[in-house]
Amino acid sequence: AVVLGIESSCDETGAGLVREGRLLGHALASSMDEHARFGGVVPEIAARAHLQSFTPVVRQALDRAGLRMSDIGAVAVTTGPGLSGALQVGLAGAKTLAYSLGVPLYGVHHLAGHVAADALEHGPLPDPCVVLIVSGGHTSLLLVRDLARDPIVHLGDTLDDAAGECFDKVARVFGLPYPGGPAVDRAARDGDPRAVRFPRALTGPGDDPYAFSFSGVKTAAARWAEGHRLRGEEVPVADGAASLQEAVADVLTRKAVAACREFGVGTLVVVGGVAANSRVRSLAERRCAAAGITLRVPPRGLCTDNGAMIAAVGDLLVRAGAEPAPLEVSVDPSAPLEYASLTPLAQTP
Ligand code: ATP
Ligand code: MG
Ligand code: FE
Repeated sequence: AVVLGIESSCDETGAGLVREGRLLGHALASSMDEHARFGGVVPEIAARAHLQSFTPVVRQALDRAGLRMSDIGAVAVTTGPGLSGALQVGLAGAKTLAYSLGVPLYGVHHLAGHVAADALEHGPLPDPCVVLIVSGGHTSLLLVRDLARDPIVHLGDTLDDAAGECFDKVARVFGLPYPGGPAVDRAARDGDPRAVRFPRALTGPGDDPYAFSFSGVKTAAARWAEGHRLRGEEVPVADGAASLQEAVADVLTRKAVAACREFGVGTLVVVGGVAANSRVRSLAERRCAAAGITLRVPPRGLCTDNGAMIAAVGDLLVRAGAEPAPLEVSVDPSAPLEYASLTPLAQTP
């Protein structure tokens, strides 16, 4: 069956079409520019933008795949986590499509989508694999088996800020444009990663090996920039960005490789928006190669939010024979990641 995936948890409206693990086409609209002057996503603006983009984005995905509405065999949609109003628009649209086409509806966990994105590029995920999810709202190390059937094991999460949030907030202090993550990445190209030694939290001998904390590095970077300003100096933003990126990438990849070693897992998958970061990618490559671990990272366009990744999970659920969601299913803005699907019946083995 051709599975249509819908993503609307934040500021991107995404639609993707997947059949048997293959991406047939996807399309994306973003309300990012409308949030720029507020310095962060405004939920009401995001929700209205989804309403405007939903139909055109679905149309465009179908056009790119060379398919018609009647070719859709199932609809998968992000039900959480995310912004409540934003999620509601996507879910209402997905329900309407599923009902009018007479096809099953699947509720998908947004982070399971980020994980499944990699399978669209590199084929089915090995069982087991260690997954490092690094995004705007999450930083977690997971042990993943069969995404459609098995519970996901959380090895560790961030105790405070997510890595993407840290990039976004420090970028503001550095005077870099919104959104901060990609701006830090660009600025870092001209900087020296050893210019400043920012803290690497929770990497000591007694620390939780899989927990993260980025509020300390965020504060240190802000203080460093402020110090320059107080002395009437220009902030060497490129050096700050490169050093920040180095500190974050160091901690992320060190802990991820340690998890693979500890659990005897041969594959590390790095996903989520921050997996688009140049230094995270290059350091992960180097450390995995040194440890004999296979590294999988989706192409940049599939790292950040998109509809293809939601379709990828839907496709796994369809092929695993999972139970579809009832049409009265609702959103869960703070859904915990235990299962890829939020439909309870889909969890029975
Ligand atoms: P979540 O998936 O946790 O709900 P989200 O959907 O907002 O959060 P994503 O779309 O997965 O997050 O990723 C967006 C985040 O990734 C932002 O914090 C953004 O700054 C960051 N990001 C994107 N590209 C880069 C990059 N090249 N370097 C660093 N960070 C980046
Ligand atoms: Mg986004
Ligand atoms: Fe996301």
